[in-house]
Amino acid sequence: MQVPFLDLSRYPEQLKSALQNKFVAMLGKGIFSGGAEVADFEAKLCQFTKSEHAIACSNGTDALEVALRALDVGVGDKVIVPVLTWVSTIEVVKLVGAEPVLAAIGLDGLLNFDELNKNYTPEVKAILPVHLYGNMVEMEKLMEWAAQKNVQVIEDGAQSFGAHRSGKHAGTFGNIGCLSFYPTKNLGALGEAGALLTQDELLAKKIRKLINHGQEVRDNHTLLGKNARIDSMQAGFLNVMIAQFPQWQQIRAYQAQRYRDAFAELSEIEIVKSHDENSYNAHLFVLRTVERDRLKHFLSENGIETKIHYPYLLSQMPPYKTDAIFLIGEQFVKEILSIPLNPWLEEGEQNKIIATIKKFFK
Ligand SMILES: *Cc1c(COP(=O)(O)O)cnc(C)c1O
Repeated sequence: MQVPFLDLSRYPEQLKSALQNKFVAMLGKGIFSGGAEVADFEAKLCQFTKSEHAIACSNGTDALEVALRALDVGVGDKVIVPVLTWVSTIEVVKLVGAEPVLAAIGLDGLLNFDELNKNYTPEVKAILPVHLYGNMVEMEKLMEWAAQKNVQVIEDGAQSFGAHRSGKHAGTFGNIGCLSFYPTKNLGALGEAGALLTQDELLAKKIRKLINHGQEVRDNHTLLGKNARIDSMQAGFLNVMIAQFPQWQQIRAYQAQRYRDAFAELSEIEIVKSHDENSYNAHLFVLRTVERDRLKHFLSENGIETKIHYPYLLSQMPPYKTDAIFLIGEQFVKEILSIPLNPWLEEGEQNKIIATIKKFFK
């Protein structure tokens, strides 16, 4: 039995035909940019996240770049980025001409509050907390810190769709929250898509302009913008997908709980989790063990595919190299291993993963 990390060809037949029907209907209407599907998806996002405004866009990386531009972050500004994240978070800072300041992480893989003050200088204009693995940063605490320092907050919620803290959805705490609907995320399109959330009407208007060539009405270009609009077809597919999302989240939560129960007594592994388990959307299930490389190999030999999110810190990558030392981070990336968790993983497959991991440590 081969157990894939995530196999999107396993979408149930019913979902596949609903998506095919959507494609046929949209082909019939002939509207391939903007239109009702986009407006409908944005309304659904607002409803689901309880956000005042949601602006769908091309992908999560563009969402982050547009967020920085909307807050006028650019040359001469510094932006705090956690040293462990998907590379998009730091790319966009460089792309707008600002300077990234790498912040330490804790053993939950998230921004380490104890170290944050070290990263602050008056040039810091924004901070990009990342809800890595779908575990939320303690946003109440972060917003307090940011208000004190007069720093703008852009949440990288690319991995945290469906995660909440005290009733508030990820991405609705900061000035702007960015989402990704890349196919492997909890809510995935059949291609590239993303969104920005904000509670500020003026910011929402500016973001709409920035993703559409700086125009509010056609040919009236009042800002330097770009084309970062969502593909209408993807909005259409996402409208189909989002209806099933709560059901998928239930399966994810169930699988995460099964793993937690199964590994509770294995002293050789730690489960990477945030302080508040409720603020986890079960995007990735990440273990930590000093035997990581051997365990990964053993699982692979037994037909189980695993991944590492991520094998390197940003500070270890050529474009973002710094001399700063991140002791916890360096240890962390050597010990983490993501094991399969998704709505299309079968119960028997999860049993096999659990049994194989237990066997390894016996
Ligand atoms: C996926 C991801 C992004 C980028 O989203 P895309 O839609 O792939 O551009 C940004 N940040 C994090 C943490 C991600 O996981």
